[in-house]
Amino acid sequence: MNTRELDAKYIAGTYARFPVVLTHGKGSVVWDEDGKEYIDMGSGIAVNAFGIADAEWISAVMAQLGRLQHSSNLYFTEPDALLAEQLCSRTGMKKVFFANSGAEANECAIKCARKYAADKYGAENRYKIITLVNSFHGRTVTTLAATGQEEYHKLFQPLTPGFLYAEANDCEALRAMVEADPAVAGIMFELVQGEGGVLPLDKGFVECIASLCAERDILMICDEVQTGNGRTGSLYAWQQFGIVPDIMTTAKGLGGGLPIGACLMGEKVKDTMTPGTHGSTFGGNPAVCAGALNILSRIDDALLASVREKSAYLVNELSGASGVESVAGMGLMLGIKTVKPVDEVVAACRENGVLVLTAHGKVRLLPALNIPMELVEKAAAVIKAACAE
Ligand SMILES: *Cc1c(COP(=O)(O)O)cnc(C)c1O
Repeated sequence: MNTRELDAKYIAGTYARFPVVLTHGKGSVVWDEDGKEYIDMGSGIAVNAFGIADAEWISAVMAQLGRLQHSSNLYFTEPDALLAEQLCSRTGMKKVFFANSGAEANECAIKCARKYAADKYGAENRYKIITLVNSFHGRTVTTLAATGQEEYHKLFQPLTPGFLYAEANDCEALRAMVEADPAVAGIMFELVQGEGGVLPLDKGFVECIASLCAERDILMICDEVQTGNGRTGSLYAWQQFGIVPDIMTTAKGLGGGLPIGACLMGEKVKDTMTPGTHGSTFGGNPAVCAGALNILSRIDDALLASVREKSAYLVNELSGASGVESVAGMGLMLGIKTVKPVDEVVAACRENGVLVLTAHGKVRLLPALNIPMELVEKAAAVIKAACAE
C-alpha cells in the first residue's frame, strides 16, 4: 500500500486532508512524493516559523538532543529556564508553565484563572470564563467548551461547565453579561480570531474588555496560540492593542516545528499555581525548548518589520483584485474572502504550486515569518490568478 492507502486504512478519520503527500522542504519551498514543488503559504498552520529544515534551529535542537533529550520535570534543566526568562523579559509576564500544545496551554490558563478566583473568592462563588462567539481554543473537552462555536459542541456533551459566550465587538452586551453574573472569573479571547475566519477584534472592544477586567478583578486571558511569536507583526498581538493580559497562552510558532505550548502568568497570578496543582510529563522538554529559544531570539525588530512589510504587500496586491471580496487579518495572518468557492481557489493554487489554507470559508495565509519577498510575490500572483473571475 502507498502512503495514502495506509493512511486511509490505519489513521483515524479525523482529518480531511489535501491530496498531497509531502516529503521534504527547505525554507518556504516544499516538495511532494511526485517531485512537485510548492511555495508554502501555510507553514504547517503557523508552526514552521522559520520555514522547513532551518539550519540554525536544527543545530540548536540537535546539540541538545546529543546531551539530554528529556529529563522529566523532577529535575532542573537549562533550556526551559532560559526560554522562560526570555518570554518573561520580552512580555513583562512573570512566570511560565510549559505544555505541549495550544489546547494544553489553554487548559493551564483556565485552571490558573479558576484557582486564582477560588483562592480569593471561594470556588463556588467564582469560576466562570467568558469567551467569544466564533472563537477557537482547542479540542480537549474543556477547551472545546471554551470554543464559542456550537457545531463543535453537539456530539460531545456534556462539556466542562462554566463557560459563557459573548458576541465579539459588542461592549455593552459584554458589560451586561459581566454585571449580571458575579461568578465570572476570566475573559478569554484571541486578538485575531484565526480558525473563525481571521478576524481581528476592534481596538475599542479590546479596551472595553480590559476596563471590565480591571474594574472587577476579572482575569484577562489572551489566547495567542496562533497570533503569537511574531505572526501579527509584533512579538505578541496584545502589544499592538495597548493592553497587558493577566494570562497569555501561546504554542504553534514558538517551537519552530516541534510541539510546545506555554502559559504565561502576569503579576496578579504569578504565585497562583503551586506544587501539585498542574504538571506535564513532556512539558518543558529540553530539546524542544532549545529550539524554541533559538526561534524566539530571532524574532527581533528587523524580522517583525519585514513581517509587516510582506503583510502590506500581500494586502495591497490582493485587496480589490478580481474575485477578491475582502482581505482581513494582521501581519502574516491573512484571510481572503473570494467570490469563487474557497475549495476551488485552494485547488487552483495547489495545481499552480502554492499551498494555502482555509478558515471559515476563506483562503487563509500563514507563511513562514522569513519567507523571501520573491516567493511572496510569486505566491501572490498565483493566488490572484486563482481568485480571478
Ligand atoms: C490552534 C489553536 C489552538 C489549539 O492548539 P493545538 O496545538 O492544536 O492544541 C488553540 N487556540 C488557538 C487560537 C489556535 O489557533
